Amino acid sequence: MTNQALKLNKYSVGTGDRFAHQAKAQLQACIKALDAGIEVVPVWNKSNREHIIIGSEPSSARQAADAAIRALGWKLPYFCDADHITSQTVARFLDPCDFFTLDVADFIGQPAPAAEIDAFVKRHPELAGSIELAGADDPFEITPQILKQTAQKFLAAVKKAGEVYRIIEAKRGAGNFISEVSMDETDRAQSPVELLIILAAIADEGIPVQTIAPKFSGRFNKGVDYVGNVAQFESEMVLDVAAIRYAVRQYGLPENLKLSVHSGSDKFSIYPAIHSTMQRLNAGVHLKTAGTTWLEELIGLAEAGGDGLALAKEIYAQAFAHREELCAPYATVIDIDPARLPSPAEVSGWTSEQYTSALRHVPGAAAYNSSLRQLLHVGFKVAAKLGPHYLDLLNANETVIAKNVTENLFNRHIAPVFLGIPVKTARTADALMMEKA
Ligand SMILES: [Zn+2]
Repeated sequence: MTNQALKLNKYSVGTGDRFAHQAKAQLQACIKALDAGIEVVPVWNKSNREHIIIGSEPSSARQAADAAIRALGWKLPYFCDADHITSQTVARFLDPCDFFTLDVADFIGQPAPAAEIDAFVKRHPELAGSIELAGADDPFEITPQILKQTAQKFLAAVKKAGEVYRIIEAKRGAGNFISEVSMDETDRAQSPVELLIILAAIADEGIPVQTIAPKFSGRFNKGVDYVGNVAQFESEMVLDVAAIRYAVRQYGLPENLKLSVHSGSDKFSIYPAIHSTMQRLNAGVHLKTAGTTWLEELIGLAEAGGDGLALAKEIYAQAFAHREELCAPYATVIDIDPARLPSPAEVSGWTSEQYTSALRHVPGAAAYNSSLRQLLHVGFKVAAKLGPHYLDLLNANETVIAKNVTENLFNRHIAPVFLGIPVKTARTADALMMEKA
């Protein structure tokens, strides 16, 4: 598994661009990182679910990315990620994408044939016992029973990943795309021990995985901060990195294999932990965000006032009216308090400042409303239905929107994770960097 033509950089950021209008503004955030002395390469991710809701084709994401790269003269790598695809949905992504997130969460817990479980356990005597890992204080203690149970739980899912991987490989050729395996959209977090066993199975399947997205403990709700124990997250991440390093050496997985954090956007309180773990262990990370850019479009429209603000209010009113339908597909990853949702009548009287300060995720700000933010986060279907009316206003207000998109991605995500500048001071991250320079 050494023939990796296409290689993902140590630091990368996954950005979603629901309406394919902000690629340039997003790329600008990576350029700011480069100016600050760090290479963070962009990966434009879009899932099949997003394409279906919006009515778009994966080729449109590719065109938007290519156009942005040309316009801004970006010389480093960049990728288009077929996010959370399965064997059922991969087909239309094969041409335009060069990064594939093989989502096998639905197959976790499905039984694999007993003979395959036994063969796996026999093939991996090194996994049963006490395993010393560089970077971990205590060894992993894996009993034969734990090994077998873990194989029973994950082997079918990993086989499924192999199936999807081979569909892509047959079409694009080995080494011509990046593979990520994701297991985050499930109920229970995977432990570092489980991750190690999963990686052994992934190597057996011959998948040259470059990023792996486990489910971490704690809640990763859409568009709002992390809910959970940050110290526990950090110690788990440290052990995950140790497990990855061991698997790279032991099983010949790609050397640049790293964690992918499917953040659901805005996990500000774990960003310092991610940064310090990366620093301490000299590890890379792929930070995947998604809907945060779409919310910046709304913020930009609201900030613009006039027709833009009117449309932002209209979108809230419709999202409020259809909240049950909009929230249903995301039920496991949102926590909206209906009592905290302002009525559309109230919002219709808001100024630009009232709208943007309720929506903008400034931790600790009194006006910030996480319920409203989550509802709008999943409410992009409303804008999709507005079609040209929405897109025309995006174009008309491009400058103010682009400024919000770039600032948000750089100050609130890239700077804290990759440069170690806390989100608290996000509004002044630019100023801090100028001081540093
Ligand atoms: Zn995910």
